[in-house]
Amino acid sequence: MNCVRPILPGSAIGVLGSGQLGRMFAIAARRMGYRVHTLSPDEDTPTGQVADVEVNAPYEDLDAVCKFASGVSVVTFEFENVPAETAAAAERCAPVRPSGHVLHIAQHRLREKTFLSESGFPVTRFKRVGCPQELPEAAAEIGLPAILKSADFGYDGKGQFRIHNAEDFEAAWQAAGGREAVLEAMVDFDREISVVAARTIGGEFGHYAPIENQHANGILDLSISPARIPERVAKEAVEITRAVLEKLSVVGVLCVEFFVRKDGSLLINELAPRPHNSGHLTVDSNLTSQFEQQLRAVCALPLGGGARFAPAAMANLLGDVWANGEPDWVATAAIPNVKIHLYGKLDPRPGRKMGHLTALSTSVDDAITDVLCARRSLTR
Ligand code: AMP
Repeated sequence: MNCVRPILPGSAIGVLGSGQLGRMFAIAARRMGYRVHTLSPDEDTPTGQVADVEVNAPYEDLDAVCKFASGVSVVTFEFENVPAETAAAAERCAPVRPSGHVLHIAQHRLREKTFLSESGFPVTRFKRVGCPQELPEAAAEIGLPAILKSADFGYDGKGQFRIHNAEDFEAAWQAAGGREAVLEAMVDFDREISVVAARTIGGEFGHYAPIENQHANGILDLSISPARIPERVAKEAVEITRAVLEKLSVVGVLCVEFFVRKDGSLLINELAPRPHNSGHLTVDSNLTSQFEQQLRAVCALPLGGGARFAPAAMANLLGDVWANGEPDWVATAAIPNVKIHLYGKLDPRPGRKMGHLTALSTSVDDAITDVLCARRSLTR
């Protein structure tokens, strides 16, 4: 039984973190009449630009975090690398959804993989590496090639190194940050997919169809919905995702990233306890976006209908697109089935996520062609 009182429009929602995920959350929340407060160490942020209140404080300033949480009806986050103490401080002053416990697991690869494997979920073979001396033994056990990943604060392929032979050990240890790491077997996958799902405090579960993801240099480049996988694999991915959200008692949105192997079997790569870059296309292609689902879940409202209007493809716009000056927005704006999303970031550094394009079309293949063509038209 769900006895939790819903948090109604007009209430203030607190967001820890201030990037593009918070920005799109804030847009969804404001559309439904909520107020949004954001806290992060930065100023004039993607979230702050559209929030009602932007608080500028380090996550370690627990007094500021408590004051922030006291001014809102619920706290959520858009950035999982918030320190555990920050989530705990917020939890003393307001409900935090998803809970600090979910954050604690998902922000640390080793804890996450240990939780997943101990719960019986399929994960890549892995071994903890606590110091460089442990690397040769771990490599012998896991086999080479393998990937060394920092245990904490990793995202977008950062803090990772592909080890091919023993000569790579030193460079790998340094690249992984010279601290606790996880050695993972290299997966010979057919493709990568993600399932973005939402769960309410009463246990209502909503999900999108698996989305197919292609990466470039460890960063998401292209997402495709629905993923081009057999129905059986799609169903299994959704069932695993449902079980992960249940097991963690997630209240909010969580994305499970999978490798699909050539035989159709699935391995979980990682969890993101928040809306995910691959789910950005839901803003244009689905009746309820991943950000509105997050809002509904953390406010104890029923989830929205997830119906998809059309096959969709999303291409990220990294700072590299600005390499030769201002992109040609007029050319891209002229393409009728493509939507432009920009995050309000002023400094287009190479590799920095500045925005994305989404194309809707009659088939997945056409959506891919159109979104890639639209991206090219920005720099032609
Ligand atoms: P991650 O930050 O762990 O999600 O890794 C970024 C990307 O690197 C993934 O989306 C994959 O494309 C690739 N990758 C990560 N781990 C593995 C693995 N064990 N085997 C093969 N590719 C991987």
